[in-house]
Amino acid sequence: MKDYYATLGVSENATEEDLKKAYRKLAMKYHPDRNPGNKDAEEKFKEISEAYAILSDPQKKAQYDQFGTTEGVSSDFDIGDIFSRVFGDLFGQGQEDIFGDFFGHGRKQKESRIRKEDVKVQLTIDFMEACFGAKKKIKVHRSKICSHCNGTGAEKGGIATCPLCGGRGEVSYTAGFMSIRRTCQRCGGTGEIITKKCKMCKGKGSVYNDEELAVRIPVGVDNDDVLRVRDKGSNGGDLYIYINVKPHELFKRDGKNIHIKLPISFVQAALGAEVEVPTIHGLEKLSISPGTQNGEIFTLRGKGINAGGVVGNEIVEVFIEIPKKLNKEQKRILTEFANTEGNCNVSENFISRIKNLIS
Ligand SMILES: [Zn+2]
Ligand SMILES: [Zn+2]
Repeated sequence: MKDYYATLGVSENATEEDLKKAYRKLAMKYHPDRNPGNKDAEEKFKEISEAYAILSDPQKKAQYDQFGTTEGVSSDFDIGDIFSRVFGDLFGQGQEDIFGDFFGHGRKQKESRIRKEDVKVQLTIDFMEACFGAKKKIKVHRSKICSHCNGTGAEKGGIATCPLCGGRGEVSYTAGFMSIRRTCQRCGGTGEIITKKCKMCKGKGSVYNDEELAVRIPVGVDNDDVLRVRDKGSNGGDLYIYINVKPHELFKRDGKNIHIKLPISFVQAALGAEVEVPTIHGLEKLSISPGTQNGEIFTLRGKGINAGGVVGNEIVEVFIEIPKKLNKEQKRILTEFANTEGNCNVSENFISRIKNLIS
């Protein structure tokens, strides 16, 4: 004999409210939507639903209490009816909405046949455009709602209510004792079928086109940055622009700082000099101090990229160019210079350090 009280985990003195509470709790646990493919859960759900159906009905409950059986009592019950009684009053809504709230899906909103989609494009820009921002025109292949049919996909008067779902967008069928709702396959959830397709979009409701869009590239973008432009994807989706910055012949980037290698002559390095250095903002004066070594770093403050309230610098690394050819006069002067240093061209200090290292 079935013990409906034990099934719901309540005592025989349970009030209507107790029964409801117990059923609610168990129904949420064992509902098939929360246990897909789980036969045990489905069985359990059936049992608790049956127990609640009997015990919540005063007539059936009386018979069950008296005879310990419901034989002769119709045990037919409508699961949807139970749900609206148990959950409906809780939220003041119909059961369909409760299914949605509790189980993640349920009565569907009629689905539109037009889907939002994000669109991705690659955009290659020049180094300077990345440094200072730019206005660019980009070609985007995206779909828009068909202007001829306004997205319905049909010619005028070419829409009818879906005969399979009666316009609800979903169909319910009975699996075992349960009623299950699914999106209508005939109409794809829209509740409507097209009897005369739109000539422009062939019934899709949207049309793909190549479109030229003007976009503003913000100051300081860098390789692998992704810009998002709202609503410029397909049918109201977003557009994502993947930035690729062309390398520059002179400049390299490190965030907002600009790096450059600057050639100076060995005379400038030795004597010091005022030189002009290219920056992204134009030529800037830089004073090379006497005795500058190869690879020495100078910083031009504020001469990098100015974006987002941060101002970058230009980092200048000098390298000393040794002349490959000397004329007679130059040779004479350098030889004379060498003589002033003594015969040894390598610093004696260095030689003695090496000696210490290898002895
Ligand atoms: Zn159309
Ligand atoms: Zn349908």
